[in-house]
Amino acid sequence: MGMASSHRLTLAGFADTITFMSQSTNDPAAEARLREAIAHMSDGFAVYDPEGRLEICNESFRRINNYTEAETEPGVATYDGLGKLDESQESVEHKPFTFKQRIAQLCRDGTNVVIQYHGDRIYERHQSATPSGGMINVHTDITELKRAEEALRDALEMADQGNQAKSEFLATMSHEIRTPIAGILGMADILLEDGLNEGERREKVFSIKSAGQSLITILNGILDLSKIQSGKLELEDIDFDLHGLITESLDIFYPTAHGKGIALGTKIEPGLPAAINGDPTRLRQILVNLIGNAVKFTERGSVSLRAGVAEQTEEQVLLRFEIVDTGIGIAANHQEALFEDFTQVDASTTRKYEGTGLGLAISKRLTELMGGEIGIDSVDGEGSTFWFTVPGHIAKATVSGPAGNSSEKEYRATRALQILLAEDNDMNQMIAKAVLAKFSHQITVVDNGRAAVEAVRRDDFDLVLMDIRMPEMDGPDATRIIRQEPNEKAAIPIIAVTADAVVENREEYFAAGMNACVTKPINLMELLSAMNEALDEEVHLLK
Ligand code: ADP
Repeated sequence: MGMASSHRLTLAGFADTITFMSQSTNDPAAEARLREAIAHMSDGFAVYDPEGRLEICNESFRRINNYTEAETEPGVATYDGLGKLDESQESVEHKPFTFKQRIAQLCRDGTNVVIQYHGDRIYERHQSATPSGGMINVHTDITELKRAEEALRDALEMADQGNQAKSEFLATMSHEIRTPIAGILGMADILLEDGLNEGERREKVFSIKSAGQSLITILNGILDLSKIQSGKLELEDIDFDLHGLITESLDIFYPTAHGKGIALGTKIEPGLPAAINGDPTRLRQILVNLIGNAVKFTERGSVSLRAGVAEQTEEQVLLRFEIVDTGIGIAANHQEALFEDFTQVDASTTRKYEGTGLGLAISKRLTELMGGEIGIDSVDGEGSTFWFTVPGHIAKATVSGPAGNSSEKEYRATRALQILLAEDNDMNQMIAKAVLAKFSHQITVVDNGRAAVEAVRRDDFDLVLMDIRMPEMDGPDATRIIRQEPNEKAAIPIIAVTADAVVENREEYFAAGMNACVTKPINLMELLSAMNEALDEEVHLLK
């Protein structure tokens, strides 16, 4: 577009020049200079008089259109519409055009621009009417421009593919790392439960556990970021209890805040809807990130969460959250960069606070994905306020609150279950057994999908815990076969047990016929509620 308009300017200039030339024959020196300039232009240039006779043209015009000098004799040659370009390559023109028709069209529509292909060169041809009713024809060689455009497009495509490959690599890598870490964490749990009473050893095992948990947090961060970057993160759209979610997000931090002697509180402004429609998981993730940072970077004073409504229409609200702390604060020159990937104010290896510098980057992308904004107000040394907004629809029905944080609670089983565990990894087998050991369930172990199918056919089970990746036959395939059984065994509850946190994959497991999905490292609460859900029976209850 830029090119076209710049040419129009040039053309207008030429039109004036030509008019001037034809009127000022009394200055032969000026005319000679102009003819000289036109002759040496790299653009093809030609002017026709109002009768369509060629008045002047240059060598580039002849070369581009394959004309001989004899064919372009001024006053003799007449406009023939297309020159000698290969006609099949003329793009959008409606032919034939007599010269008068063409001029009428140019006067009506302004400059006419056509792309012409000639051999391996590409030209842009501009035609416009002169004030006296003649026509100016300019051919510009845009071959290099087109090539550069193509190269740029290819490069973009490659970058896209590269980004895709990077995301896939990150997802695979985090999956592969997650599996052994799950093993380490599970083993640490077993050791802790196996009456590991001596203080020092117990502490060491605790260290293993907390290091493993940090690793999982980092992996989750990297996975999230790569998913967001590759545009693969899909937001949920469900009704949820907003107040419950706020309470739940804060609850996590009471022990730490208490340990540091800082106050942690909320201020829910009047008018905050009880329930809204949106993505609770992602909203919780942002809240937990920001509250976690505030608690981490505050040594005395308080952290408080304010939640209110910034704007409201009948159905939609713009929620605004503010996390205010009295911590170390952030100097103005550092504030902008904080939301970039892997950025920390103190990036030295001896820094005091742990972290990856991913939390704020992820929070920013998530808020923007949800259609909101995020920002910071801070005074170095006095504290920070991180705020963000999120639009949501007010939910019509009231929804039941999310399950409270009851990981510490004790459970019992109303009956002993016959459980088939299909899992190829020895350590994971042990962990699953250990997690379920406190119940009187009978656990039968097989180590691949084919054996699982056979076991289901042979014996009666209440439930199958099915690993996804196994030798010989994987979990989804085994599930598909079981679902095709001719008897009631086709309906046996199957729970996917996977090291994979990717949402898309979970959908695939459900499509294969699995009833529920739990992630490794196995969390007792999660497993018990998945079992209840898959059995459609409250087998596991609070003591
Ligand atoms: P991480 O906390 O894992 O390093 P974040 O992206 O969450 O990564 O935060 C990036 C950096 O921003 C932190 O390392 C810290 O320097 C600064 N920061 C974040 N929140 C606060 C806060 N409430 N007070 C002071 N500094 C903060």
